Amino acid sequence: MTNKLLTNVMIFDGTGKKSYPGEVLVQGNRIKKVAKGTDQIARNGAEVVNGEGATLMPGLVNLHGHLGYADTATLSAIGEIPPEENTLITMYNARKAIDNGITAVVSGASSKPRMDIVIRNEINAGRIPGPRLRAATPQIVTTGGPWDPRQLHMHHTSFELIADGPIEMRRVVREMIREGVDIVKLALSGDGFIDHTPEGTMTYCEDEIAAACEVAHSRGKRLAGHARNDTAIRACIDHGITFIYHASDASEKTLDALEKVKDKHYVVPAIGILYVTLNEAAEWGISKEWALSHRFDREIEKACATMNKMLKRGIRVTPYGDYGFAWNPHGADNRDLEHFVNLLGLTPAQTLMSATKWGGEGWAGSDPVEFGLVKEGFLADLLMVDGDPLADITLMQDRDNFLMIMKDGQYHKAPVRRRAAQRKRAAAAAE
Ligand SMILES: [Zn+2]
Repeated sequence: MTNKLLTNVMIFDGTGKKSYPGEVLVQGNRIKKVAKGTDQIARNGAEVVNGEGATLMPGLVNLHGHLGYADTATLSAIGEIPPEENTLITMYNARKAIDNGITAVVSGASSKPRMDIVIRNEINAGRIPGPRLRAATPQIVTTGGPWDPRQLHMHHTSFELIADGPIEMRRVVREMIREGVDIVKLALSGDGFIDHTPEGTMTYCEDEIAAACEVAHSRGKRLAGHARNDTAIRACIDHGITFIYHASDASEKTLDALEKVKDKHYVVPAIGILYVTLNEAAEWGISKEWALSHRFDREIEKACATMNKMLKRGIRVTPYGDYGFAWNPHGADNRDLEHFVNLLGLTPAQTLMSATKWGGEGWAGSDPVEFGLVKEGFLADLLMVDGDPLADITLMQDRDNFLMIMKDGQYHKAPVRRRAAQRKRAAAAAE
């Protein structure tokens, strides 16, 4: 493979420091050299890409994806999709993720037991486009848990895998690991969407959580937990559940405990789904009154306050989560970056650091895969962005602004020129 030299770019390296003019040499699937300025790196027959002042940055990482969710308006509608169609939908969503600059995804639950597994394998084999993918189980839930859609007189399915008691839990987790998952997803707490288990309730008991974690950890697998309330967050810490989802309501004691083991966990609040459910879901039958009566206003307030406390303690909070519903569809994921700026008060640089550096660390875990920074030796998952996302984070929401998308040193989108308006703006700024 010819080396690629990306020059005349503003490098946002993923650490959160401000961008600088520079150039980057990609050799094979790795970043071979990073230099400040232009004409610093020997060309030696490399393909030279002139970025015309565009931003070069690491690929985005989503630590809470649901590629199998089908942008439906109800949860049970996902269950009604047959596996064949659902596989194709997952494939299209994988493509949509990387088309939007998301080059790696940790799944936060699949829609059907083998859905993520087969898509991950096809992506890895190079037969379909998509991000690096950690495949997850469906939501493992109790009878009467948040995504148990059954009725006594009638069977229904959504995206759940029911397991009750430690014995059944062990069997389900073992079975899914046999099939090839990387991540075991447990629905530990209830959720505001579900009347029979609101967010304050716990669904799993200690012995069931312990059983799942014991099996997963003994086989080198990581876990993710749906954890809206304090007890559920605490269970994630106590049982070593790496990915803590939502985490809206953490007591000071729990925050103290989490801070002590902060290098072991990632918190992914999925702020976007709360925001759109409260403000933009009326078209799909979720009125403002309904959202308020289900306390979505309070949940978003609590989540933002808790995330701020966590960030102050150096706990890694990362964007994305729960895209894949009609009012929060796939492809809109990068709105979450704007939510981090507007709702959590982070700077765009902090937000993008979280989505790249922390995301890369979270995806890798203890595996020796390094991406998420523009750094020599790191894997070449890189984006070229038309404009300066540190000045305007909403640039990331228009996929035409991704002038180049590279994963593992290969183009998913080969470089295109900057749009004239942006070029002119950059030139005027340089004068
Ligand atoms: Zn989720």
